[in-house]
Amino acid sequence: MSSLEERDVGVAAAPGSSSAGLGVGAVGVAVEAVAGVAAMQEEVAIRREGPEPDPDEPPKKRVKLPEGEAGKLEERLYSVLCCTVCLDLPKASVYQCTNGHLMCAGCFIHLLADSRLKEEQATCPNCRCEISKNLCCRNLAVEKAVSELPTDCTFCLKQFPRSSLERHQKEECQDRVTQCKYKRIGCPWQGPFHELPAHESECSHPTKTGTELMGILGEMDQSHRRDMQLYNSIFSLLCYEKIGFTEVQFRPYRTDDFITRLYYETPRFTVLNQTWVLKARVNDSERNPNLSCKRTLSFQLILKSKVNSVLECSFLLLKGPYDDVWIKPVIHHHSFSNDTNETDYVPLPISDSVECNKLLAAKNINLRLFIFQVQK
Ligand SMILES: [Zn+2]
Ligand SMILES: [Zn+2]
Ligand SMILES: [Zn+2]
Ligand SMILES: [Zn+2]
Repeated sequence: MSSLEERDVGVAAAPGSSSAGLGVGAVGVAVEAVAGVAAMQEEVAIRREGPEPDPDEPPKKRVKLPEGEAGKLEERLYSVLCCTVCLDLPKASVYQCTNGHLMCAGCFIHLLADSRLKEEQATCPNCRCEISKNLCCRNLAVEKAVSELPTDCTFCLKQFPRSSLERHQKEECQDRVTQCKYKRIGCPWQGPFHELPAHESECSHPTKTGTELMGILGEMDQSHRRDMQLYNSIFSLLCYEKIGFTEVQFRPYRTDDFITRLYYETPRFTVLNQTWVLKARVNDSERNPNLSCKRTLSFQLILKSKVNSVLECSFLLLKGPYDDVWIKPVIHHHSFSNDTNETDYVPLPISDSVECNKLLAAKNINLRLFIFQVQK
């Protein structure tokens, strides 16, 4: 029996096994599948180079890859371990259907949310078997395998296992961005860690006079006060009686124009018992955003339900639980009625064009929306 046939039997056996053993069995199947595919590909690689192995010979347990093939194995593993929905390597938890298809936490939650909205049973996009929080389990082996795969340090561009990258970028990388220790008295210098000692030894800030420092500190106090104001207003919103929040997923679409334009829209969602939609556009629908280096995203909130009275709301977009988009909180207000059911387009507060491109490159944009209803 070939290894492929064995795997098929293994997959088919999993759903029939007892429900208690299902989780472990399914994890095993996925691991087996990963190992199986890798082994099969290794076998192919070896067949290409050497003579056919004797079929009567017992199969070799583990064949070492020749030097230089390692990178290719990693690349092959990317496609084995990626989420079958978004095709990205999962950043956090990995779930699997009863047949072992992998889904990242973000996609899994969204499939469940979509099915709730459509009032349909959620199914695995690969094999159409039913999925739910009870039927699907996490796959720790895949989560750990992903954390061992190499990824580039954003500063020095050397490769590290995902699991140790955070420590490297925060504490060890010689090229990580650092700030002068006299930042507290106004030094704006920032640069790679290995240049820090040289800068600090010649930094002009410690020799400034008290009067000069007073001016700098005054400016810093003011920007601190602005930040405090924002956070205080968020805290006072949190005291409201009616607060709703949800994960929203902006999905890319194209307009029907002669030259189509990219825009984003979320599926309908329910917050505070009303139905809503969010839309977003690139560079405020400029004709050719691809010709400009500057990239921005703006969004609008649209009330889809009919209301009997004006709905006075504050709303706020923040980073969601499954994406690492850095959003600076900005509170917006709007009075929603049947005539004024759309807000103006307001900027999505991301740091810069680089961050914006990161969002455009991703398949979807996952954020969290808060709506606070102002009651009179
Ligand atoms: Zn996914
Ligand atoms: Zn499936
Ligand atoms: Zn580094
Ligand atoms: Zn300095």
